[in-house]
Amino acid sequence: MKIENHWLSDDGNVNFEFETPNTGGEFPAGRPDTLVIHFTGGSSAESSARHLCKPSSRASAHAVIGRDGLIYQLAPFNTITWHAGRSTWKDRSGLNHYAIGIELDNAGQLEPNGNGQYSAWFGRKFTQEDVFFGVHRNQSAPTAWHAYSETQIQRVLDLCALLIEYYGIRDILGHEEIAPLRKVDPGPAFPLDRLRARFFGETRDLDGEAEWGSPRDRAIVDTERLNIRSGPGVSYPTVSEPILRGATVRTLENRNGWAEVECVTRGWVSSQYLKYPD
Ligand SMILES: [Zn+2]
Repeated sequence: MKIENHWLSDDGNVNFEFETPNTGGEFPAGRPDTLVIHFTGGSSAESSARHLCKPSSRASAHAVIGRDGLIYQLAPFNTITWHAGRSTWKDRSGLNHYAIGIELDNAGQLEPNGNGQYSAWFGRKFTQEDVFFGVHRNQSAPTAWHAYSETQIQRVLDLCALLIEYYGIRDILGHEEIAPLRKVDPGPAFPLDRLRARFFGETRDLDGEAEWGSPRDRAIVDTERLNIRSGPGVSYPTVSEPILRGATVRTLENRNGWAEVECVTRGWVSSQYLKYPD
């Protein structure tokens, strides 16, 4: 993949079917210098791309990345699009005038509805394997989020690398950081701090965030009902209802056959009932 004249080259992984009219002219000299990451909160990359091209939606972005890695480029990267809305970061406001907007097809925050199922706001049901449990940087308790696909995250990484080089991008921000009272995207399922650490060597707080690649610390509950306790041993009280078979948990620490894990809640479980992929 390459950028030529502010468009991605067509290497079979880019779709140019949709071009948005919702633009604000060319960026001034020296910009864009920032990338802003979003989730669509929609049902498919294509439907989101269509939506962002409707004049009536009064919203747009430069690219939408599907769960299969397909990138829909909706506008040339040197053109202002309308993805950030009212937003501020450090001494800047109105980040649309500084930033390329990248939307990821993702259903967003999910509601548990019992039976191990989770619903998106538009009604689609997800099972636990599609769910990432984590604490949002602007919230205090862990909740359920639609997990991004590995292919999708890899494409984001490739696209960011390309844009950083082509435009001299200096920062990558989440919509949730520049509009914290209005927005929760891309949410804790997206490894935003890791992305920044990788490109800019920053080490902001990496706690509670999704991992790159196939993480060693993600485990599957391998027993019918797994007690979760406030400490590493059976003498500690349980902190919530048991976790059910098949649930994905994130391991934070291992101690004497116990693992501190994070799922909907956080606490200690007996390590023998965790199964680590590969
Ligand atoms: Zn957004």
